[in-house]
Amino acid sequence: MRKRLLSILIALLFLLTACTGTTVSENTVNYKTDSSLELHFIDVGQGDCILVLSENTSMLIDAGTKESGHKITEYIKSLGIESLDYFIGTHPHDDHLGGAAKVIREFSPKEVLMSDELSDAYFYEELLETLYKENISVTVPEIGCRYREEDFDFKFISPYESFGDTNDNSLVMMIYFKNTNMLFMGDAEKSVEEKLLEEEELKADVLKVGHHGSRYASNYDFLRAVEPTVAVIQSEKGNMYGHPHEEAIERLGEVGANILRCDELGTIVLKCDGEKIYYNEEELIKKEVITQISYIGNKKSHVFHRDTCGNLPKESNSVKLNSREEAIILGYSACKGCNP
Ligand SMILES: [Zn+2]
Ligand SMILES: [Zn+2]
Repeated sequence: MRKRLLSILIALLFLLTACTGTTVSENTVNYKTDSSLELHFIDVGQGDCILVLSENTSMLIDAGTKESGHKITEYIKSLGIESLDYFIGTHPHDDHLGGAAKVIREFSPKEVLMSDELSDAYFYEELLETLYKENISVTVPEIGCRYREEDFDFKFISPYESFGDTNDNSLVMMIYFKNTNMLFMGDAEKSVEEKLLEEEELKADVLKVGHHGSRYASNYDFLRAVEPTVAVIQSEKGNMYGHPHEEAIERLGEVGANILRCDELGTIVLKCDGEKIYYNEEELIKKEVITQISYIGNKKSHVFHRDTCGNLPKESNSVKLNSREEAIILGYSACKGCNP
């Protein structure tokens, strides 16, 4: 019965649209009193929830867990906001869409953008039922389509095709605000990063780090292309996955990013004037990029590691490698633990 209901709802609600790139918010509402763009990484524990606010546009990317639904709606209301222009659901996991039904009920977004990745979990059924009751349809965005708002543009840059994994099928989005870019990775990991490297201009001032700081995301080549000034990680202190993983933190540090973590700082608000990014009124300056990294190969297994990896071979099996490229030319494959 529930399965049948779910498929009926999906048929009724989901619209596949061609790219028009039109503006949604012909707003009389003023969300802010100045012309900056604000990113509110709302502390929802182990989950994602980001409020994007410009003078004329409000957008929520993901809505945390079901338990955090109340906190999210109260937070948004505390800013004097009564409605949302956009709700974007990156992928149907309960740490991203758990609180979405409540958000939809409270703020009736003008446009709901979600991928066609589906779920039969309870929170997802509740979300679809709520959308149906509120008479709001779901737009499946065309990847590569640039939406133009009055104050900023945004574009979904992944997934062009299925990666066969719900996390990797996350909607990945870039916001373009004056001379700054902001990249939101959802829970996408390595295969998505590799695909993006082939296809997209990835440079971004702000990176919402993929998959709560998992070691399987935020790989070097990708981070070198993004070169973020600030990287924000949304995860909960003491979570069962150990997010964020040490290896991801190290790699982010090595590309010079300022790392801000909700598990340490609670809700994080970044402000952008179109040139610079500010946290607590202070301008964030890119840190020094560490270029000298050494790699250690295991002569026996032909796996290579970063020299800080916990899984280094014993001295007699070790060989020093000068670069990643050298390791690959010599036939070494990358350690799955340290992702060199
Ligand atoms: Zn997640
Ligand atoms: Zn996920």
